[in-house]
Amino acid sequence: MMFLCDQPLYSNRLAAVQKGISAAIALAGPKGAAVSLLAVSKRHTAEAIKALHALGVNDFGESFAREGADKRQQLADCGLVWHFIGPLQSNKTGLVARHFDWIQSLDRSAIARRLNRQRPADMAPLDALIQVNIDSEPQKAGVSPQAIWPLAELVADLPALRLRGLMAIPRVGKPDAAQRQSFHAMRILFEKLQSRHDGIDTLSMGMSDDMDNAIIEGSTMVRIGTSLFGPRQA
Ligand SMILES: *Cc1c(COP(=O)(O)O)cnc(C)c1O
Repeated sequence: MMFLCDQPLYSNRLAAVQKGISAAIALAGPKGAAVSLLAVSKRHTAEAIKALHALGVNDFGESFAREGADKRQQLADCGLVWHFIGPLQSNKTGLVARHFDWIQSLDRSAIARRLNRQRPADMAPLDALIQVNIDSEPQKAGVSPQAIWPLAELVADLPALRLRGLMAIPRVGKPDAAQRQSFHAMRILFEKLQSRHDGIDTLSMGMSDDMDNAIIEGSTMVRIGTSLFGPRQA
């Protein structure tokens, strides 16, 4: 019943996000080719995910390995694509290797090696983005820009991983121009990675509050939680 009552709400929110994406693409010029939408479903229910899936959304992002693995098992029949986007400790790599299609938060070689070892042989390679700490925040996950290159070399050589690009979460609350500078710096790093490796097609940046600036500066994938699902449970 909830599902049916909520459907128009999700439909309106999705339409607003899609409209925002199109408007930002129009402002981006030639860089704004295509932007895919990742629905960030952490701390939202399987029912909410189903409601968005019924509207055509296929990619979902989770920040906690156990929570994401449980939802994937609950929704196994839906054929969804699951992205792990949170910090990953070594004791949880098995869950990500077995239950996710992408990892967007790769920032350590030891984690990359474990995922490669634990990825089941009958699954496609795990698509991987290297997370970059673009504003050098001490408490934030991600590698420094100079550390991208050795990690990228390693990931490119691991058969059960497939390097697809970069992800970043700039510092929150920056003035507009400074925020755009961070996104612009990511776009430059992304193009450099493309010049060094094959198959690099994803620059994941932009969330509910900074999506427009990210797209204008050349994001290819936005990760949207609140604008699609509403506020998260504590
Ligand atoms: C939670 C989260 C998001 C979505 O944030 P919203 O502000 O709710 O859109 C995007 N990316 C990452 C890495 C997150 O952890």
